[in-house]
Amino acid sequence: MDTAGEGPSRGRELGATDNAGPAPPSRYESQKRRDWNTFLQYLRNHKPPLVLSRCSGAHVIEFLRYLDQFGKTKVHVPRCVFHGHPSPPGPCACPLRQAWGSLDALIGRLRAAYEEAGGTPDTNPFAARAVRIYLRDVRDSQAKARGIPYEKKKRKRALGAAHGHGGGESSSPAALSGESSGSGAGGCSSEGLL
Ligand SMILES: [Zn+2]
Repeated sequence: MDTAGEGPSRGRELGATDNAGPAPPSRYESQKRRDWNTFLQYLRNHKPPLVLSRCSGAHVIEFLRYLDQFGKTKVHVPRCVFHGHPSPPGPCACPLRQAWGSLDALIGRLRAAYEEAGGTPDTNPFAARAVRIYLRDVRDSQAKARGIPYEKKKRKRALGAAHGHGGGESSSPAALSGESSGSGAGGCSSEGLL
């Protein structure tokens, strides 16, 4: 009801990773299913229409960019005075984006979902090199823009195992939800302020 049934409710799910602790498998599974359905719906609405079997890494990147409009993480542009500030003292007009950690986790889930749906690892568009490079660029630019180094996070490539690391590695999603709530406060009002 409160979501008014439009696209952004999906984005809200993405940003709202409130599972600060280790998530039970069922939660991961249901999130994965939701993500997968979102992606399939994105393909259906794509112009021109796209089928999964023709999906490339470039389409996946396009999907990630599309999701940015639902993001809640302030990413400062280089000319912003707050560029590089982890917690800016005031609002600015910089765009809200999906946080790198959200995208990284999303791609992990979609990569697994693709293969569970019968796709083979070597055609998996979510495992494409271009997607890895895109994510690395997002990570680096957000680290600079927000003054937050992501060095600690090591990249897990293993397919199913990508989420076996709920405990220690979950520092990034936990940090994420903390940050996004902070940036959300400034973000909500960003339209009217400048
Ligand atoms: Zn800014």
